[in-house]
Amino acid sequence: MNIHEYQAKELFDRFQVPSPKGKVAATAKEAYDAAKWLGVKHLVVKAQVHAGGRGKGTFKNGFKGGVHLVESAESARDVATQMLGEVLVTKQTGDDGRLVRKVMIAESVTISRELYLAILMDRETSQPVIVVSTEGGMDIEEVAEKTPEKILREYIHPLAGLQAYQVRKICHNLDMGTNARQFGRLLHSLYKLFIDCDCSMVEINPVVVTTDDHVYALDAKFNFDDNALYRHPEISAMRDTDEEDPREVAAAAHDLNYIGLDGNIACLVNGAGLAMATMDIIKHFGGDPANFLDVGGGASKEQVTAAFKIILGDPNVKGILINIFGGIMDCNIIAEGVIAAAKETGLPIPLVVRLEGNNVELGKATLAASGLNIVSADDMSDAARKIVAAVQ
Ligand code: ADP
Ligand code: MG
Repeated sequence: MNIHEYQAKELFDRFQVPSPKGKVAATAKEAYDAAKWLGVKHLVVKAQVHAGGRGKGTFKNGFKGGVHLVESAESARDVATQMLGEVLVTKQTGDDGRLVRKVMIAESVTISRELYLAILMDRETSQPVIVVSTEGGMDIEEVAEKTPEKILREYIHPLAGLQAYQVRKICHNLDMGTNARQFGRLLHSLYKLFIDCDCSMVEINPVVVTTDDHVYALDAKFNFDDNALYRHPEISAMRDTDEEDPREVAAAAHDLNYIGLDGNIACLVNGAGLAMATMDIIKHFGGDPANFLDVGGGASKEQVTAAFKIILGDPNVKGILINIFGGIMDCNIIAEGVIAAAKETGLPIPLVVRLEGNNVELGKATLAASGLNIVSADDMSDAARKIVAAVQ
């Protein structure tokens, strides 16, 4: 799960990670009031969307930049007017862009240095890693590609935690000089936040040193481990489903493991491994999967119906492949779920079903007796071939 920058600021405040004072606003009037409340002349207006690259982004109304420095509450209001209700396109949003529903008004600072700082879970070594670079404020992927030597990594022992010598080493490598103490404190606070909140990634691009020698986190991108969210109701409450794929939001509500993709063949599968294999075999026969969907080992008829509806709600989908191996799952339950869903939604596109395992004979008989236009397949290759042919 991701959160907005203004929500990240709440966590920064709680964990004493220094960041400029700011307030969120959903209307131009609120933006004006927030600026007045801040009571300073130098302000910044920042579009709040779950995507980076806002500063260099462009709105579909032609307005340039999702991050604007302004000098008065009136200008803050005017910039907010240009942003709110408009679609911002950045390098990370894709061509569709993102609708800006909120902006953050914050104090602006005078920057002398911009640094890159991230903490993430490294899957290869199974431990947190702190990633830093002197090339802050830039597109970090580009830095990694062109000047990889400028990206430094410090691995943290998960039980020992971040050690003082590691902080000193990072500060030395970044040439922090007299700002080392402040930067070090920020590092310790951020590491504590990362662990305590079960983050999988925290990225601050940039951390800045100001001309009057303060160190601040200016930007914030958070990623939380969904499986640990139950421990953090206050963070779960920050979820903004407007920023998420509506198909994935609906799937989560029914406890389905769904990930939307760009292809046109929808898959409904039980078991993550089989779901991966199903996507592979669709590709192998020249098709393109529209999603990953694992209905789990013991899906109910209601879940299968919900899954079916989510699949059909995707306008790109031109065919469906159901691939079920009945282990714990009873093939007949799937069959009944599919029929119920198809009757409720109609079946406007080809459907290929491959069933195998527990109660498969009854499952197949139920499907055959339904009178629905369902193509039955004998094995995975057969199923993939049939659905790829059907959508072409
Ligand atoms: P994004 O990464 O989405 O473009 P940032 O929050 O990093 O958004 O903002 C883009 C740039 O705007 C930053 O790299 C920084 O130079 C500048 N900026 C952002 N916030 C402030 C601020 N409070 N004061 C001064 N400059 C800022
Ligand atoms: Mg940034």
